[in-house]
Amino acid sequence: MTDTTARSALVVGGGIAGPVTALALRRAGIQATVYEAYSGGDDGVGGMLGIASNGISALDVVGAGDAVRGIGISVKSMVLQSWTGKRLAEFGTMPGLDPTQTVWRHDLSRVLREAAQAQGIRYETGKRLVTAEEYGDGVNAVFEDGSTARADILIGADGIRSVVRGLIDPSAPGPRYTGLVGIGGRPRGRISGVPLGDTGIMFMIFGKQAFFAYQVYQDGSVGWFANLPRTEPIWHAEAQAIGAEEWLRRLRKIFAEDRTPAPAILAHARPEDLIIVGGLQDMPTVPHWSRGRMVLVGDSAHATSPSSGQGVSVAAESAVELARCLRDQPIAQAFRTYESIRRPRVERIIQNAARTNSHKAAGPMGRVIRDTIFPMMIKFAKPDRFAWQFAHRIDWDAKVH
Ligand SMILES: Cc1cc2nc3c(=O)[nH]c(=O)nc-3n(C[C@H](O)[C@H](O)[C@H](O)COP(=O)(O)OP(=O)(O)OC[C@H]3O[C@@H](n4cnc5c(N)ncnc54)[C@H](O)[C@@H]3O)c2cc1C
Repeated sequence: MTDTTARSALVVGGGIAGPVTALALRRAGIQATVYEAYSGGDDGVGGMLGIASNGISALDVVGAGDAVRGIGISVKSMVLQSWTGKRLAEFGTMPGLDPTQTVWRHDLSRVLREAAQAQGIRYETGKRLVTAEEYGDGVNAVFEDGSTARADILIGADGIRSVVRGLIDPSAPGPRYTGLVGIGGRPRGRISGVPLGDTGIMFMIFGKQAFFAYQVYQDGSVGWFANLPRTEPIWHAEAQAIGAEEWLRRLRKIFAEDRTPAPAILAHARPEDLIIVGGLQDMPTVPHWSRGRMVLVGDSAHATSPSSGQGVSVAAESAVELARCLRDQPIAQAFRTYESIRRPRVERIIQNAARTNSHKAAGPMGRVIRDTIFPMMIKFAKPDRFAWQFAHRIDWDAKVH
């Protein structure tokens, strides 16, 4: 391949990383089209996501930060609790940083798509990539409907079960099960008579049998999610087949002994409020992020489990860094630089999240150790212990070397 500068890109996947990548490429002077497999939009699909200050800052680079703040609920602080209701620790927003925003995934994906379309970026739906091949000075994508598209490069923003990852490296590993099942709950009216705590605080509860988190909204309603330990993997379709009514029954039983608001929140919930995610997964390491004219961004390259609270944020950062590298370097060199900038940071975040998952799935002994050690760790840790994650900033104007 002649190593030239990219002028056009096919972005496969219109979830989160896809539109952010297209916006960043546009800023870098590279024309991009987004191809999304689904045509029906993703209304109501996906649960609650957190976007940390590093992610908001990356979204600001592409001009989408304010649109995302507009749909988010600011997290004033995070409170960790044990099943007895004991407060283990509290973390506020670090001084000078944006608070984390919680958003619903379908809202986030919609505002990012609208931001891309408002910038004149073409966004084609009903285009499921099945294969792609390189030719002379470009790459040719083939979609399930038989249509094709060509550009200088192809970017796989097609999520944790990426097709592009398999085209880059047919022996690439697949996602890893984390040992946890995710179930979320949409807010349903005010819950009266239960002390839930202040609006905006994210309560994270290490329950007796499982993990529960919730946030109270301005109108007194509550958004929540639970992570249930389970040895055997259970995938989305299988979890859906169990049915919301049965999941709600199980959740009420699992959290029945917790001396926290979890039982009241679950008593108030209705089956139709449930978001059944199924087994949570991550991708500890993807050996090859690029080959020739194809490259990965977002979950296709570095899926972290939701426990990091960083999935969207690192996807947005990677999108911006990839565009910066392509702005300043020819294709092959840009892909190498991009990977060398991003890989250490994202893999460290994935590893940290895997440790959090083991706390969430702790047995009786593990719970005692965790609940004793956590407060001490927090007490003696340096105040800026999380700065490497949250204060990370990308200098768009700096030339990439
Ligand atoms: C339906 C859904 C619900 C989710 N819900 C949650 C949640 O509740 N909590 C959480 O923490 N994370 C959730 N995630 C993951 C979260 O969105 C990602 O971790 C993060 O935002 C990184 O985004 P991404 O764009 O890399 O991947 P994704 O958000 O997964 O987006 C990938 C996009 O690529 C599209 N796509 C896939 N294959 C192809 C193909 N062959 N051709 C064209 N397009 C393709 C998908 O339809 C999707 O729109 C969800 C993801 C999806 C797809």
